[in-house]
Amino acid sequence: MKAAVLYAPNQPLSIEDVDIDEPQANEVVVKTVASGVCHSDLHFMEGKYPYPVPTVLGHESAGIVEKVGEGVTKVKPGDKVVVAFVTSCGACDSCVTGKPYLCRNTQALGRIGRISLKGQGMMQFANMSAFAEYQLVHENACVHIPEGVPFEAAALVGCSVMTGVGAVSNTAKMPVGSTVAVVGAGGVGLNIIQGARLAGASRVIAVDLLENKLAAAREFGATDVVDASSGDAVQQVQQLTGGGVDFAFEAIGLAKTAEQCWGMIKPGGKAVVVGMVPFGQTVNVPGHEFVLGEKSILGSFYGSTRQQYDMPWLMELYRQGRLKIDELITRRYELGQINEAYEALKNGEVNRSVIMFP
Ligand SMILES: [Zn+2]
Ligand SMILES: [Zn+2]
Repeated sequence: MKAAVLYAPNQPLSIEDVDIDEPQANEVVVKTVASGVCHSDLHFMEGKYPYPVPTVLGHESAGIVEKVGEGVTKVKPGDKVVVAFVTSCGACDSCVTGKPYLCRNTQALGRIGRISLKGQGMMQFANMSAFAEYQLVHENACVHIPEGVPFEAAALVGCSVMTGVGAVSNTAKMPVGSTVAVVGAGGVGLNIIQGARLAGASRVIAVDLLENKLAAAREFGATDVVDASSGDAVQQVQQLTGGGVDFAFEAIGLAKTAEQCWGMIKPGGKAVVVGMVPFGQTVNVPGHEFVLGEKSILGSFYGSTRQQYDMPWLMELYRQGRLKIDELITRRYELGQINEAYEALKNGEVNRSVIMFP
């Protein structure tokens, strides 16, 4: 199959012929139809998260089940599925306490040797490697796509929509009427904004440096925007709200913006870090405010997803026109144009791009 191979950090991806294993017990092969161009892959391409190379990245996809291994009961060939980038054993402490996305018996970052390049086994990124024509995945990772949801929209449910909306509904468990700031209005940030709108936030303040991102933020439900390129963003949020928000979400992936989120929340408020802060960066917050002010900081991985439960309701909200996904998709590319797609992402030109497979 054709796949986009990362040979080394900070090098363009290269389209190569890659071999993929046959499905073993409880595994399936999915023919990729749509694969999202997510910022998280860029962290690995740029070496901000160390990862063994060569590898095939990609973790936001939807497709058609092609083959199934022994004992597979959840899907059959021909089924249309979202591929989630976590699987769960159903038995560990995380799984039995409602946090399957933190399963302790799954290697979240991937496994080695199931895809290979010229006979050399490669890491399969997030147990899927979606920048490829086919993906070998666990049946638990597959979520059925209902009628009326196109593959490109379903693919985005597999990462950015789940991560953003889930951070509000699952991680923060945000009450109706809350005030919210969202730092970073990219693919995930826009979904936090619409998640906050769906959850009944009274104010949603989008913070970004780029005018086109702030315009998109308004379209997705921001009631106010703060241009972080003109003046201190923390002060502007404090002023707009008369003393801070209930929830501030970090959706860029920087220690500095996580610290800004802390500064934007009022006493009793929660800062929620959704962006991937690079390895080795430390987030510094004033320690006395944990007690005097009861402020807290939360981490959110994959919108605290229970994919078999959450992804169906996300797709239902989309079908009803209450969740914007088509509006997220700014551009469509072929696999051979993947480097171009990442350049556009780096330049802040797009909400989300999708690689479409023939
Ligand atoms: Zn992603
Ligand atoms: Zn588990």
